[in-house]
Amino acid sequence: MRNAFHAKYLAATFVLAAATLPAGIALAADEAATATTAPTSATTPRVAVLATGGTIAGQADTRAANAYNAGAVGAQQLVQAVPGIEKLARLSTGQVASIGSQDMNDKVWFALARRIQEIFDRNEADAVVITHGTDTLEETAFFLDNVLRTDKPVVLVGSMRPSTATSADGPSNLYEAVEVAASPAARGRGVMVVLNDTIQSARATTKTNTTNVQTFASPNSGPIGYVDPASVRFLTPALQPDSHKYALPSGEQLPRVEIVYAHANMDGVQIDNAIANKARGIVLAGVGDGNTSKSALEALQRAAKQGIVVVRASRVGSGFVNRNVEVNDDTSGFVVSLDLNPQKARVLTQLLIANGVTSPAQVQKAFAATW
Ligand code: ASP
Repeated sequence: MRNAFHAKYLAATFVLAAATLPAGIALAADEAATATTAPTSATTPRVAVLATGGTIAGQADTRAANAYNAGAVGAQQLVQAVPGIEKLARLSTGQVASIGSQDMNDKVWFALARRIQEIFDRNEADAVVITHGTDTLEETAFFLDNVLRTDKPVVLVGSMRPSTATSADGPSNLYEAVEVAASPAARGRGVMVVLNDTIQSARATTKTNTTNVQTFASPNSGPIGYVDPASVRFLTPALQPDSHKYALPSGEQLPRVEIVYAHANMDGVQIDNAIANKARGIVLAGVGDGNTSKSALEALQRAAKQGIVVVRASRVGSGFVNRNVEVNDDTSGFVVSLDLNPQKARVLTQLLIANGVTSPAQVQKAFAATW
């Protein structure tokens, strides 16, 4: 049970609250090492907060109107600035990156995945919360969901307003993310996303609004739960243990898979460029049910003939892309993304190729198995 007057209703922003930290709490500029708050009790869950940057850690840039520096605030400072958060969990913090999530990349993904797996394998924490920019948060969440081997809660959280904004949403979102992560009911649910009182699954959620605080939605299935002043409420049962996990390839890079965005009057140039750029896979963000023009389809068929994995997804934002409706996927050697949006279809295609799964039949089976 939590106090109804929790962080959300308090006026403190990260920055203001950070300025009033109790004496003796040092805020390291570089928090590569993990710092720990004092334990509430030995049975209180241990939650590791890993920061990657984003607006949730953003500070206004006084040199330019309306601009801010994503990731300016460190992990420990973020946590220390949320009133009451220390009562929810024994918190430790680590800084994995300090970037706007538009710059999220394979190197940070690999470091994040390895660190989280290590935290669980060494029993350093009972749950992990990752602070992240909202732009590519759904891709990181889906990537982690496909590579982490654990039933412990992993929660991604961001904010739509920087810490210096009036009614910054970061403190309440971080409070709720830790609350969800520390909840016994959060186990066995895969990677989750918590913003604005709502819990979404990594697989289903997507950013739907450029500025509104209620931006994450799961268009095909709805949220998996809510956080209200009384408790964390899940609407769905926990998942069956998922055997579909993919190994990270050695090195720090996933195979090149390009997304091609379909539109009226489309030719095959984007697709031929992707082939020339040595893409191992091409995801079509198709019109309607993953559709595109005759010339683009012919270019995709040329790609598939060369062994490039071709996945038809949709730019529509909700619904399924089904096989062999207006496009003959069987004869073209194509795969359909079902309900995965183009950016998530890209991540899964990268992981499949990295794990040697490249034939259209095998790739299609893997897409179906995520459902
Ligand atoms: N560009 C920012 C980011 O994704 C936006 C945000 O965090 O909301 O890092």
